[in-house]
Amino acid sequence: MAQVLIGLGANLGDRAANFYAATRELLARGCQVIALSPIYETEPWGVTDQPRFLNAVCHVRTDLAPTALLDTLKEIERSLGRQETMRDGPRPIDLDILLYDDLILDTPRLTIPHRGMVDRSTVLVPLADLVPNLCHPITGRTVEEHLADLGPTPDVAPYPPGLPAKRDEK
Ligand code: ADP
Ligand code: MG
Repeated sequence: MAQVLIGLGANLGDRAANFYAATRELLARGCQVIALSPIYETEPWGVTDQPRFLNAVCHVRTDLAPTALLDTLKEIERSLGRQETMRDGPRPIDLDILLYDDLILDTPRLTIPHRGMVDRSTVLVPLADLVPNLCHPITGRTVEEHLADLGPTPDVAPYPPGLPAKRDEK
């Protein structure tokens, strides 16, 4: 079975509920769900005049080949009410294949590893929660190293906000 990291994003509807619904759909379609990362609230990327996103990463194992997995993700997006919209625009759910084993693929329909992943804090922060030491098959650098390259990531906040944190001892 292939090990796959899937990026989740949502900025319409009950965003967290959409993540859990998508996870259930992955299970129903033969993917083993190994872990779902913590969820973060993030500033929109590209098209900035739209509601804030939630982002997370899901680690799955699957027998689906990459293109069959993309078809499955698109079906799940549609089943959760996603309409065709502009790239980076508002959506109840976005499911992207970030990494598929150590596969490198570049076709008109599917690029793996996902193009944006090494410079997007919205992807690298939850990915680093799950697999900090995983190597990017093209750059040879780990998720943690790519995240460190970005510097501070104030645009990515733990969700939900406002849970009490331990105070610094003075
Ligand atoms: P966004 O770039 O905002 O995620 P979409 O989800 O609408 O936009 O994706 C646009 C197209 O990107 C998809 O129809 C798909 O063919 C293509 N694509 C290329 N590589 C990937 C990938 N690794 N994961 C998901 N979609 C991909
Ligand atoms: Mg997408």
